[in-house]
Amino acid sequence: DSDTTPTDTSADALRTPIVAVLGHVDHGKTSLLDKIRGSAVIEGEAGAITQHIGATAVPLDVVSDMAGELVDPDDFDLPGLLFIDTPGHHSFTTLRSRGGALADIAVLVVDVNDGFQPQTLEAINILQNTQTPFIVAANKVDTVPGWNPNEDSPIKPSYDAQSDRVRGDVDDRLYSIIGELSDQGFSADMYWRVQDFQNNIGVVPVSAMTGEGVPDLLAVMMGLSQRYMKEEMAIDVDGPGVGTVLEVKEERGFGTTVDIVLYDGTIHEDDTIVVGGENKPIVTDVRALLQPRPLAEIRTESRFEQVDSVGAAAGIKVAAPDLDEAMAGAPIRVVGDRDLDAVIEEVRAELAEVAVDTEEDG
Ligand code: GDP
Repeated sequence: DSDTTPTDTSADALRTPIVAVLGHVDHGKTSLLDKIRGSAVIEGEAGAITQHIGATAVPLDVVSDMAGELVDPDDFDLPGLLFIDTPGHHSFTTLRSRGGALADIAVLVVDVNDGFQPQTLEAINILQNTQTPFIVAANKVDTVPGWNPNEDSPIKPSYDAQSDRVRGDVDDRLYSIIGELSDQGFSADMYWRVQDFQNNIGVVPVSAMTGEGVPDLLAVMMGLSQRYMKEEMAIDVDGPGVGTVLEVKEERGFGTTVDIVLYDGTIHEDDTIVVGGENKPIVTDVRALLQPRPLAEIRTESRFEQVDSVGAAAGIKVAAPDLDEAMAGAPIRVVGDRDLDAVIEEVRAELAEVAVDTEEDG
């Protein structure tokens, strides 16, 4: 009664980089994610982007369709990008699981008119502490007075086509963002002038409203991941699954479930797992792995469909007994053929790091 999610059977495969979108409230995180999702649905073949639990997977061919000439799929062997859907504070907590970063790469959204705000600085601190590579989306460029919009266009031609006065106004705003990044110790520049994205922050002017600059944002993220993260993306897909709990949720018919992002290996139905809990690690068995059902089918059936297994990177809901004390931000590990006590110890150690991080946050 359950489907199988196709997973690559070769031992070493490149997984999808996990992308988080951060930034101050109202600077446009949700709009930007919606724009990427919306454009992907329009550009891609039906069903090409997949809605995960808590995340959206945009495969390379769809990224390439959206980015046009900026992304040649032949230049890449990473499978695409997995965007964590919950922007902002919630993902701040979960971002720092593993004492490092859940996200491999981040987009810091900054309103061009508003500049750096308290949550921008908070996000920067977390990115700095977790050493997460990021790019800056200088959003709402369409609101600069006199801006002539070019729907879904790459930003450079659109920027070049503005009047001198408008371009001057845009430059003032972008340089003030670059200055603020510099105050935080980052060397930054307009992304089209950045050669080395490992040591310089690229600033991409975008509009989540008109879609301008979104092709550039996707191209830079793909390029950054491919260039600097390929080694980290090489995983043993058949190995025991490892992930982070995004949310703990009650689900009718399933009791308490955890929504997780799996970043390594594979998780199967009936696997024994260890999950970080409020008092101690929880040892339990996976009862069901649940994915969102495609919209069209929801009217007649449950919101979820069951799958036998899922490989990283993916967002998935895990139903299992005894999850009441599971915690957002906590690690989840499949035991596999390893020693149960050793896995419990690993989870305990990771949990201690998360707890320390949370306290530091005040
Ligand atoms: P979040 O709190 O960071 O998720 O911000 P939202 O995505 O909710 O955006 C806050 C407000 O700014 C909403 O009213 C959006 O419609 C608006 N907004 C976001 N991005 C843009 C943009 O690029 N251009 C314009 N004109 N408005 C935007």
